[in-house]
Amino acid sequence: MLHVGINGFGTIGKRVADAVRVQPDMTVAGVAKRSPNFEATIADDRGYDLYAADGREPFDEADLATAGTVHDLIETSDVVIDTTPSGVGAANASLYADHDTPAIFQGGEDADLADVSFNARANYEKAVGADTARVVSCNTTGLSRLLAPLKESYGVEKSRVTLVRRGADPGQTGRGPINDTLPDPVEIPSHHGPDVQTIFPDLDIDTMGMKVPTTQMHTHSVNVTLESEPTTEEVTSLLADESRLFLIPETLGIDGAGKLKEYTRDAGRPRGDVWENCIWAESITVEGRDLYLFQAIHQEADVVPENIDAVRALSERTASAEKSIRRTDEALGVGR
Ligand code: NAD
Repeated sequence: MLHVGINGFGTIGKRVADAVRVQPDMTVAGVAKRSPNFEATIADDRGYDLYAADGREPFDEADLATAGTVHDLIETSDVVIDTTPSGVGAANASLYADHDTPAIFQGGEDADLADVSFNARANYEKAVGADTARVVSCNTTGLSRLLAPLKESYGVEKSRVTLVRRGADPGQTGRGPINDTLPDPVEIPSHHGPDVQTIFPDLDIDTMGMKVPTTQMHTHSVNVTLESEPTTEEVTSLLADESRLFLIPETLGIDGAGKLKEYTRDAGRPRGDVWENCIWAESITVEGRDLYLFQAIHQEADVVPENIDAVRALSERTASAEKSIRRTDEALGVGR
């Protein structure tokens, strides 16, 4: 049984902890928090041992028991998943190195912080036995899952993606826009293209980013020029075979992220999470060598199964991507 510590229990951390808990080969060693806020009380309710990232006094005052400090958590963990805000992971890196504990960082950190930038479908094997990995951002994860099978089956000459990004997560009350459509970042290419190249170094990709007033999901408008000329049906069938790509059938009547989230809430998914890329099946169109499609990416959820696979890769418990992905997906309910 792998003991997995989670440092930072916010949007990503609480989902990752719950995903670790349902894996047959893993257990939650504990979660580290800075403050005794509502998420700390949820961690306590879930039965996760709480560790203080910044001193135990605020927890004592709030009458929340702590099992130790973040150092104790790192010491007791086989692998730590750092889900602290962007930049804090870099500050924490020396803690993990000092304890000789393998660590997984998130997409808000610079690529050079970790031995490998990680996506289970695209480069699992590169992370096997590494000391550190960075699970790439939600958008990069979504693009990597899509581009990996396209590259393998048809070759990719050039990718062009416009990312229409949610302005904030639901809990981020201080972010926006609330009444505008922003080119964001204005610079072209946006940082997303170079980030995808941390997974596929030789990929030709241009990206443009926008931000809009929604908290639901990101939406990608994708154009990939392939090296060969498959039919629309062949591409549809290739993508349908991928466990972390969900092709939204036209018959479901799902016209946007709102109904997608409603669908997963109705289906009983925890927090209404959508772990898969959601591709509108009828948008998949091949004209000559050009493939077009729309996909939606749930920013709070798609990186969660990737973190689980990264634990298996770093700990060298599972050498094959396919086996780890299948285990993760079965335990979580991905694809169901
Ligand atoms: P968040 O702000 O929701 O959660 C971070 C948590 O870490 C908070 O509970 C915060 O109190 C805690 N924290 C802050 N400093 C800490 C410290 N020194 N030690 C321990 N805990 C500390 O952030 P998030 O959205 O979960 O993002 C975490 C990482 O995941 C970032 O790198 C981000 O870029 C990445 N990511 C976020 C999303 C997203 O859409 N939310 C998607 C993919 C990747």
